Amino acid sequence: MSDPSASHAAALPRVSLPGTAAPRFDNRLLAELPGDAETGPRRREVRAALWSRVAPEPVRAPQLLAFSHEVAESLGLDEAALRSDALRDVLAGNALLPGMDPFASNYGGHQFGHWAGQLGDGRAISLGEQVAADGRRFEWQLKGAGPTPYARFADGRAVLRSSIREFLCSEAMHHLGVPTTRALSLVATGEAVMRDVMYDGHPAPEPSAVVCRIAPSFLRFGHFELPAVRGETELLRQLADFAIARDFPEFRSVSATDAQTFETRYADWFAEVCARTARMVAEWMRVGFVHGVMNSDNMSILGLTIDYGPYGWVDDYDPDWTPNTTDAQGRRYRFGWQPAVARWNLMRLAQALSPLFGDAAPLQAGIDRFGEVYAEADRDITARKLGLAVCRDEDVALIRELYALMHASEADMTLSFRALADVAPQAGQARAPADASLADASADAFARCPALRAAFYDHTKREAQAEGWRDWLQRYAARLADDALPPDIRAAHMAAANPLYVLRNYMPQQAIDLAEQGDLSELHTLQDLLRQPYTAQPGRERYAALRPDWARERVGCSMLSCSS
Ligand code: AMP
Ligand code: MG
Repeated sequence: MSDPSASHAAALPRVSLPGTAAPRFDNRLLAELPGDAETGPRRREVRAALWSRVAPEPVRAPQLLAFSHEVAESLGLDEAALRSDALRDVLAGNALLPGMDPFASNYGGHQFGHWAGQLGDGRAISLGEQVAADGRRFEWQLKGAGPTPYARFADGRAVLRSSIREFLCSEAMHHLGVPTTRALSLVATGEAVMRDVMYDGHPAPEPSAVVCRIAPSFLRFGHFELPAVRGETELLRQLADFAIARDFPEFRSVSATDAQTFETRYADWFAEVCARTARMVAEWMRVGFVHGVMNSDNMSILGLTIDYGPYGWVDDYDPDWTPNTTDAQGRRYRFGWQPAVARWNLMRLAQALSPLFGDAAPLQAGIDRFGEVYAEADRDITARKLGLAVCRDEDVALIRELYALMHASEADMTLSFRALADVAPQAGQARAPADASLADASADAFARCPALRAAFYDHTKREAQAEGWRDWLQRYAARLADDALPPDIRAAHMAAANPLYVLRNYMPQQAIDLAEQGDLSELHTLQDLLRQPYTAQPGRERYAALRPDWARERVGCSMLSCSS
């Protein structure tokens, strides 16, 4: 076919990195799955294909604002490479490394409960799939690198503010121990784009940026939904076989010779996707993360947190809270609904995969697995957060009551859990034989624990619930007295399950305000702070404090739209 843009990628210079770094790319998705015959960014419907070749569009004045040392190290990038103009140009979309073969992938998705048709990587361009020296796979993907066939009416770019938010949060989540895509770099483009931040008819120019995201795979539920909806069953089967072979090595060795074995393998794999999704969402609930746009195109097949948009962090505990003003009406993606929404998305995936199955039983088994794994993870998290050796049935009720109290009294989720550790060891030291005296000693724990008393946003509400807190703390102390963990181990468990520092909603906004004026200090401080979210860092007490009053109802802090 005539190909006006065949020279599109060829037009980008190929550069080599100085030093020892020479990443090796094998680009299996392009090699093994059907692609689009046309290349280049002309907007179009792409059928019977899972990807389109398209190159990043170069930017005027690329500037490396931040990068993750840890990610760079995994990729084998040394200091010389990190300091080079060559790498900066690659991360801006102005150049390619040898072996890179840029493409955008094709997917659909359910947005806010409704089928949305073809979506695809509208502004994400994958540069290549790296195989590191240790065999691990790392796909390099630029977000905001220019339009692709899937850009529809938009410009293919991302603003600096949303790029800072993605860069900081994905790395913070990793260090919190939550499965996530990573961010290698944040590059300013030196160009502006127009955005209407609150969708209220006030578009304005904003600086744009490019984030280089890294993950073993960027396959989403929506990649399977689109061929399924279009009746492209062979393509769907190819994609499932590919995903299993490349991304789920544990299932690769199952030799599949007849239809029966194939189906068993798909069933085991789907159950694994369900299990990983359950663990991921349970971790979100542990740290107080609200994704904000859990559309099925934003759900990773690997169970990684992906697509950081109008996400938020719970300050005062509130299961009904959502940071996303675009979702303010239905609040579909509110904090407390995330497990149910994850399950709903898995049902959409099950529906998409159903042509690969003779009957629905194995898919139902996968959905059931989600429930089992979530319940298991939730109990494990309950034990760790409360500092218990095991989670008994009554402990599930105990933590629910704690959440109810936090909600009613506007307690800060992060600070309250952290403060519990101050109560716990005192109780632990007084372990049996004197259970009764222990309960007495802690009857007053609420009054005596300044860290806990300081974890409230509204002192009137705190005092109104004081009786409830005293009662709860007494029962908690009694429960600890009946628990096997020695106090020092308990304290260690609690400190490892309850972060001290999270990316409170106002924090990235402060980094953004300064970065827009050319001051990167706060961006770098936050990046460094969130490398050790469980460890007290002297001099950084203000990050382990209540959300400041001014941030309560501020755009960018508590109110975010999908505009990015
Ligand atoms: P999101 O809400 O960020 O998950 O995006 C939903 C869809 O819109 C995806 O297909 C994105 O690639 C696409 N999209 C979002 N913003 C842009 C943009 N500025 N340019 C092109 N496509 C975009
Ligand atoms: Mg998305």
